[in-house]
Amino acid sequence: MGAKAREIVGLNVEELLEQLNRALADEWLAFYQYWIAAQVAVGRQARPIAEALKETAMEELEHAEELATRIVQLGGRPLTDPRQWFEKTNCTYVEPPQDPEDLDKIVRDTVEAERCAIEVYRKLAELTHGKDPVTYQLALHILKEELEHEDTFENLL
Ligand code: FE
Ligand code: FE
Repeated sequence: MGAKAREIVGLNVEELLEQLNRALADEWLAFYQYWIAAQVAVGRQARPIAEALKETAMEELEHAEELATRIVQLGGRPLTDPRQWFEKTNCTYVEPPQDPEDLDKIVRDTVEAERCAIEVYRKLAELTHGKDPVTYQLALHILKEELEHEDTFENLL
């Protein structure tokens, strides 16, 4: 951890770490929601949707890594127990539909999850604006990708 890294943050660092860990829980649940939906989806249009889900899942994993890196830099501890994901998540987790051909439901659930993520990073950007330039930049970077994800899945509806 960096002492100076913490010192230059003009916010309650523990509160910021809590928000970063909540976002980390969201990213892991989004990763698994998309990844498992890609595995089980079947039907005529399943292939392009599964490809988009897998590609997006990998970007959520990257977000998780970027958040964990920032948490450690700030002297925090990224969630180490997957059971904490459900306690901390802002956006929850939606299982793929029982009917694996219900691709429309999968896509709608994905759009909903992306909209929730957009709110999470918009709020994180607002919280850190002018107070923590490094986390602010990270929030903007992830926010931009979440906007692209929303767009990708809206176009598959
Ligand atoms: Fe993400
Ligand atoms: Fe996303």
